Amino acid sequence: MNIGIDIDGVITHEKKGKENIWLRSLNNYFEENIKRKKDVYDFSEAYDLPLEDLREFLNNKIHEIYSNVEIAPNAKNIMDQLKNDGHTIYLITARHKKFRPLTIKWLAQHNVNYDYLYHDHNKAELAVDKNIKVFIEDNQANSKNILNKNIPVILVNKYHNQDIQDSDLLYRVDNWNDIEEIIDEIITDIKS
Ligand SMILES: [Mg+2]
Repeated sequence: MNIGIDIDGVITHEKKGKENIWLRSLNNYFEENIKRKKDVYDFSEAYDLPLEDLREFLNNKIHEIYSNVEIAPNAKNIMDQLKNDGHTIYLITARHKKFRPLTIKWLAQHNVNYDYLYHDHNKAELAVDKNIKVFIEDNQANSKNILNKNIPVILVNKYHNQDIQDSDLLYRVDNWNDIEEIIDEIITDIKS
């Protein structure tokens, strides 16, 4: 079975609250105590930062953040199991293609086993194209689009993805142990 998996916030360990890697980095960079003002995905809106400042921050820091981020606990082991069970893993990220070498290197450093790596903003279309049967994602807009294609979504809970309608195809999880449990159920359902 083909399984789609997002990278940022799913395989990477972004952490929560004050420990969130993006917030920590923002605070270090601007030497300020920036707080989240809105529970939305867009950084500029969430942290009430001028776009120009945000752009400068990302230009200077995103490479370092992508390179140094930890892997989410158990992500590797559970992906290994999925591979061992014969599934095909499609990593599908909205990261810009210029980060592809860095991303491949990071995945290798963390011994992540996968079959394909795609850089694409239009994840729902790609999921249909690649016959993906379940998608593990944390982005709300992507998840809505994928659900609209009748593809089950395992949604990793974040402050920015709480505004999405319940559906039989939507499975909320907090971590990879939850993912392991739920994906087994979904796979069994699809097979039967
Ligand atoms: Mg993500």
